[in-house]
Amino acid sequence: MANPSLLILAGDGIGPEVMAEVRRVIDWFGANKDLTFDVSEDLVGGAAYDNHGTPLHDDTMAKAQKVDAVLLGAVGGPKYDDLDFSVKPERGLLRLRKEMDLFSNLRPAQCFDALADFSSLKKDIVSGLDIMIVRELTSGVYFGEPRGIHREGNERVGINTQRYTESEIARVARSAFELARKRSNKVCSMEKANVMESGILWRDVVQEIHDAEYPDVELSHMYADNGAMQLVRAPKQFDVIVTDNLFGDVLSDCAAMLTGSLGMLPSASLGLPMANGRPKAMYEPVHGSAPDITGQGKANPIACILSFAMALRYSFDEGAHADLLEGAVERVLADGARTADLMGPDGGTPISTTEMGDAILAA
Ligand code: ATP
Ligand code: MG
Repeated sequence: MANPSLLILAGDGIGPEVMAEVRRVIDWFGANKDLTFDVSEDLVGGAAYDNHGTPLHDDTMAKAQKVDAVLLGAVGGPKYDDLDFSVKPERGLLRLRKEMDLFSNLRPAQCFDALADFSSLKKDIVSGLDIMIVRELTSGVYFGEPRGIHREGNERVGINTQRYTESEIARVARSAFELARKRSNKVCSMEKANVMESGILWRDVVQEIHDAEYPDVELSHMYADNGAMQLVRAPKQFDVIVTDNLFGDVLSDCAAMLTGSLGMLPSASLGLPMANGRPKAMYEPVHGSAPDITGQGKANPIACILSFAMALRYSFDEGAHADLLEGAVERVLADGARTADLMGPDGGTPISTTEMGDAILAA
């Protein structure tokens, strides 16, 4: 059988720096675990603009559609701030998400014990936390029509429309239920069915998909504002949370801060299954290109490395190897390895991006 294929789009800023450590992890699995990937690399974002005058070349787009999974670093930077909107680095990322139809955005919020002091909450509230937010990514109020700013009489009016079809809700619900079966078999769906029609439909469709296809999964519903409160009050009550694009944007950033540093957080964006049964998929750290620390060897590679662990689990059914990699990360943190972002003011000397990669490989 052919090796599984990966397209690496390292992008801009610290993207190539953290991705270099992921490359070493991928090579380690090839050398030690008989798990070899066909890896190709290409440009995205500002790097693609510099070479091709566009943040995503058509050939790159075509490659992304063919591979089993895309790994993306980060895009953007001050150098590109004045570019026309149509060629901004971020447009490359948006085009990938849109054309691959990656409707299900998985963002784990996991608290490594060694970093529990970093949380904005008390240690006992977050210690051992392991939840997953599934955010609908391709529809809802960020895309609905009509939209725009126009004049009504003597004032301006800004308009966006929250619009969800039944099939859009159903497919992201299925993705959350599938995920729950691989975890603690528990889903909480969040909307505002008390004040929004799209919320009423959301709740109905999630319940219908549950009753027809996933009756074994424990399902609850919660208003999203209460959900936000519960996330900071008692986050460990949740396992999988499924919600729409707007609420998911807000709730996943909120959940992220339960765990400490941006440099720790991975994500996956999944679409429909391809002919080989694997979902269309892109994996990327939650953080951006971090221009303030680019080129200084300070970037924490863990978010990007954990994104590859998600690829192992969700694209390649290599859960045991994902566990191995996540376990190595946990161990180096427990042993005290810290990049600068994981360090308090009196924390001592931080290690570099490469040294963190070394430590994880050794573990
Ligand atoms: P974007 O608009 O792309 O989301 P941003 O400005 O919101 O970017 P980041 O680029 O993620 O955010 O950077 C926010 C802050 O976090 C910066 O100070 C950056 O240095 C820091 N940071 C982000 N990622 C990392 C990392 N992997 N390691 C260390 N520090 C990081
Ligand atoms: Mg940001």
